[in-house]
Amino acid sequence: MVLKKYFSPDDYVEEFEFIDIEYMNMHNKKVIISDLDKTLISWDSKKDTKQLTKWLNKMRKAGFDIIVVSNNTEERVREFCSNLNLEYVAEAKKPLTTGFKKALKKLNRKPEEAIILGDQVLTDILGAKNLGGARSVLVKPISKTDAFKTRINRFFEGKIIAALKEKKQFPKMKLRKKININ
Ligand SMILES: [Mg+2]
Repeated sequence: MVLKKYFSPDDYVEEFEFIDIEYMNMHNKKVIISDLDKTLISWDSKKDTKQLTKWLNKMRKAGFDIIVVSNNTEERVREFCSNLNLEYVAEAKKPLTTGFKKALKKLNRKPEEAIILGDQVLTDILGAKNLGGARSVLVKPISKTDAFKTRINRFFEGKIIAALKEKKQFPKMKLRKKININ
């Protein structure tokens, strides 16, 4: 029961693009608070962000606020976010809630209006649960390799997810509908 309360996300999705206009409206949410590394981009690369830019523009145009809350350094997060014209909170110390609170304050929004998106149960999801009110969404990590610190977290995360799955308390991963418009 404790595991479900703190570690089971409200949703588990294949990629950030699953969070679309329809999803936001369905859950009556106005703001996306997103993790950076492996949620929006692979942690070790500065590769092409065309897909991300397209999604950001579409969501912003529809009136949603998007802000990055990352545990990574100010330097790394600033560089990434300024290129995409994104607001951010760096060195957030998730699963502590201070970063999320700062982000909501910047946007003048309440936790109930937010989706918290991230690839790690022990930081992003636990942090969202600690904050309360927001919808927590776990995303499949963009690339398979992890930084050393993350690898330790992943070990425990794997055990938690396995225990939750055994009790059928972990959501199934939702795949993005791939629609071809010809
Ligand atoms: Mg991450």
